[in-house]
Amino acid sequence: MQISTKVKILEVPFDSAFGPSTIHPALLKDDDGLTLVDTGMITQFDRLRDAVAAAGEDFNSIKRVIITHQDIDHIGNMGAIADLLPDTAFLAHEADIPYITGDKPFLKLSPERISQMEGVMREETDAFLRRLPDFRFAHVLEDGETLPYGGGIQIIHTPGHTPGHISIYVPGDRLLLAGDAMRVVNSELLGPAEHVTPDMAQALASLDRLVDLDIGQIVCYHGGLYKSDGISERISTLSGIRA
Ligand SMILES: [Zn+2]
Repeated sequence: MQISTKVKILEVPFDSAFGPSTIHPALLKDDDGLTLVDTGMITQFDRLRDAVAAAGEDFNSIKRVIITHQDIDHIGNMGAIADLLPDTAFLAHEADIPYITGDKPFLKLSPERISQMEGVMREETDAFLRRLPDFRFAHVLEDGETLPYGGGIQIIHTPGHTPGHISIYVPGDRLLLAGDAMRVVNSELLGPAEHVTPDMAQALASLDRLVDLDIGQIVCYHGGLYKSDGISERISTLSGIRA
């Protein structure tokens, strides 16, 4: 789905314990190449590649990858991308980097959850965990930072779903890439999913940080595009629903 000449939203089929759905990494397009926002689910790299091709873009043009947060459906193909394109620069917030590099145990991918995996999923997850210490982040994202990708973006630290969760504001398109800070379910904009959000109070407080932005459309990684008048009011209402 094309948002503008510089921003495309991918549609990647996603199988999880909750059944099949679609996840939405983004592509930011500039003269020097592509910036990918989030990498999709481990064991499902082919789907990411197919989605980039379906968007009419060349996967080999990816120059950097912004990670919104540590969860496996967002970082799952970092290794595959690093293998294919060794010069790729990875960017993430400092509060989530220690998890992705194996210095801290993942908040949600627990040893118990891994022990319940079988087959290819178990093998690839084990292999992925072993290589975490090799991941290098070329740039540490900071709250409020602006970067030139996609015609200009702003990083907004929105912790709660994870400590280092970031959202990305694209002022030129009045667009917010919300990651997992919000969801779209049945065409409705909702806050983050409670069962995978360790600090729900903080996650809702983070939404307060978004209400002053001029937003005409939001893309949630789970649920996709939400376009409506009065988005700020909607976010404000969501942030007020304290857990
Ligand atoms: Zn997610």
